Amino acid sequence: MRMVDVIARKRDGEELSSEEIAEFIHDYTAGAIPDYQAAALLMAIYLRGMNRRETVDLTLAMAHSGETLDLHDVAPFIVDKHSSGGVGDKTSLVVLPLVAALGVPVGKMSGRGLGSSGGTLDKMESFAGWSSALSLAQFKRQLAAIGLVLAGQTNDLAPADGKLYALRDVTATVSNRSLIAASIMSKKLAAGADAIVLDVKMGSGAFMPTLEAAEDLARLMVDIGQDAGRRVVALISDMNQPLGHAVGNALEVKEALATLGGGGPQDFWEHCRTVAGMMVWLAGAAPTPDAAQALVAAARADGRGLAKFRQLVVAQGGDGRQVDDPGLLPQARYVEPIEARAGGYVAAMDTAELGWVCVRCGGGRLLKTDVVDPAVGFVLMVKIGDRVAPGQVIGEIHADDDLTLQAAQRDIPAALTIVPEPVARLPLFYETIDGTQ
Ligand code: URA
Repeated sequence: MRMVDVIARKRDGEELSSEEIAEFIHDYTAGAIPDYQAAALLMAIYLRGMNRRETVDLTLAMAHSGETLDLHDVAPFIVDKHSSGGVGDKTSLVVLPLVAALGVPVGKMSGRGLGSSGGTLDKMESFAGWSSALSLAQFKRQLAAIGLVLAGQTNDLAPADGKLYALRDVTATVSNRSLIAASIMSKKLAAGADAIVLDVKMGSGAFMPTLEAAEDLARLMVDIGQDAGRRVVALISDMNQPLGHAVGNALEVKEALATLGGGGPQDFWEHCRTVAGMMVWLAGAAPTPDAAQALVAAARADGRGLAKFRQLVVAQGGDGRQVDDPGLLPQARYVEPIEARAGGYVAAMDTAELGWVCVRCGGGRLLKTDVVDPAVGFVLMVKIGDRVAPGQVIGEIHADDDLTLQAAQRDIPAALTIVPEPVARLPLFYETIDGTQ
């Protein structure tokens, strides 16, 4: 196979064969295809699309690009979750410890920031010393010991996704349904989950801007999971505004800690309770999703969730004192107010732009080699439907230099649409696609 021919065929809108896809993934993972050719193919796929057969082939090739885990020697049934990416989406930090605290083992492979969307691993690395680079043996040992493990792609598990994910992040090839479905489902299949809850985001801060596109992605991923014999449920959730208030790695960790501690923003907590409840129900630990949500709320109320989170931080080398005292997490040099530009009701947010503001402050990557600054970002206290007065302080920016501070002070208010007439609030969830029936 000549890579240039494969790129040309996809550029011209042709279907790639199973062999071509398998060879591309194999050779790229092995380092035999350079980034520039892989980037060209990604862009051709982004522009021309892949059909269902090509997407399934891509997913399976990526899932088998390294080892695949069978975790049944350490846990009888493993649940996992994955978000399709959003702004302020720190859900995993709250959901996973609550589920694990209820005795349901969670072994998850997470990602880093992608485009305008944050990533769980970048957030967790706000804890000094915390590492996601676990060998398979470590992964299993930790799962057996504390019932919770959070790993990144390694050379062992779905390494093709690790490489492609980093390349997509900096080549404007993220928001394609086949690339997202293959990225997410390859990780889930490789990590050996028996049941998976997919949190598929839709809206101005999601890779899927409309309900139709989100449904399409959700259906595709549920089908791939079902074909592979997994129990999969997809929840389609709103991403027309950041989830909770905090955007930025350490700021989001603080918000997650507050939420595990019984506080935090109400929308974020309700979102987490729903996702966690679905995982607990799928694992068979409660008779209905509602009953599972009550268990989740109890594990938050009596501190079991927070204690489990602390165990996760410490087990992977992090400093547990930062859990006990979030003031010890990285702090930005400047903290300045954000003011509303006009009075009225918040009608819309350019949520992806809000995510990019955080990336431009240093909270994400514009180049593969960029080092993320954990301290920067912002806290935005208003939601769609809220009333604001002109000049009202609606949040605060955390920046480490003057230039990004000034840019963020200009760009965040500009991303908000404010109108004179009242505006309805948005739902948290739109739909559930249950692949278990
Ligand atoms: N999350 C992933 O793991 N991959 C994507 O492509 C998007 C979100």
